[in-house]
Amino acid sequence: MSRAISRVVAGVRKKEGAGFEVRRPFPTRELALADPFLLLDEFGPTNNAPYEAKGAPDHPHRGFETVTYMLVGDLEHRDSMGHAGVMGPGGVQWMTAGSGVVHSEMPSKERFEKGGPVHGFQLWVNLPADLKMIDPNYQELQPEQVAQIETEAQDAQGRLIAGEALGARGAIETTLPTSYQHWTLQPGSVVELPFPEGLDVSAYVFKGTALLGDDARRVPEGSFAMFGRGQTVRMGVDAAAKPVDLLLLAAAPLNEPVARRGPFVMNTEDELRQAVVDYRAGRMGYIPRG
Ligand code: MN
Repeated sequence: MSRAISRVVAGVRKKEGAGFEVRRPFPTRELALADPFLLLDEFGPTNNAPYEAKGAPDHPHRGFETVTYMLVGDLEHRDSMGHAGVMGPGGVQWMTAGSGVVHSEMPSKERFEKGGPVHGFQLWVNLPADLKMIDPNYQELQPEQVAQIETEAQDAQGRLIAGEALGARGAIETTLPTSYQHWTLQPGSVVELPFPEGLDVSAYVFKGTALLGDDARRVPEGSFAMFGRGQTVRMGVDAAAKPVDLLLLAAAPLNEPVARRGPFVMNTEDELRQAVVDYRAGRMGYIPRG
C-alpha cells in the first residue's frame, strides 16, 4: 500500500539570526514539530546586495542536531570544537550539538563584500532523552560526496543528504535512523520509494507543485506534507506543470516531551534552565579567534 497524505501545512515567512528572511514550514502556530524534526528553515532564494548578507553570529545549541544544506551561495561555520570552514553549493553540514556547542553561521567574507544569490536549508533533528548530553560532533560533506539515488525514472534526480534510499547509502552517520533526500522531478515524472513502516515520512515542496501520496494530492510550493502509514511513498509532477524540487524527511518519532527555548531543546523546564546556566558559565565553550 502506498502512503496517503495525512496533512498539509503552509510555510510561514519569518526573520531569523541577525535578520535574514526564512520560509518556515515548522515550527509555526499550526505545526509545532514533525517529531523528531524540530525546525525546518528555507533561507532564500534571495539575492543580496554587497554588504547586505546576514548570518547568525556566535550562539549556543544543546540537546539536538542542526543540519545545513546549501544549494546556492555559501555559509562560513566556526565552532567551539575548533571547526572552521566554508560550505559551498551542494554541501552538507551535520552538527550534533549534544551537551553543548557555540557556533557562528555567517556569509563568507567574499559573499558579504560582493553580494549575490543564496539559497539553503537548516533542519533541526531532536535527540532522545538518553542521548541529549552526548559529546558534540561535526560532519560535513562536499557536494561530490552527496550520494545520488539511482532510479529508473530518467526525469527524476535524487540526492541523498543522509540515510538510505533504493540501495544508496549516505556518508553521514546519523545518530538515529534518519533519511534526508532532495529530489528534482521533471514534468510527467513519477517516483515510488519504499520506506520502513516504522518511519514517519514528510515532504517540503520548495519549487513547483508536486503530486504526492497515493491519491496524487496537489501540494504547492512552500507547503509541508505529511504521509500516513504504508509501505511506499509516491511523488510526481503533472505533465503540463513546471519542474518540482522537494525535500523528503523520514525518521521514527521520539514521542518524548519537548521543552524548547531558543537554541536549546530538552525534555523539561529544569533542563532548559540548566542549559542557560551552563552556557552563561562558559561550559559550552567559546569560538577560538585570531
Ligand atoms: Mn546555529
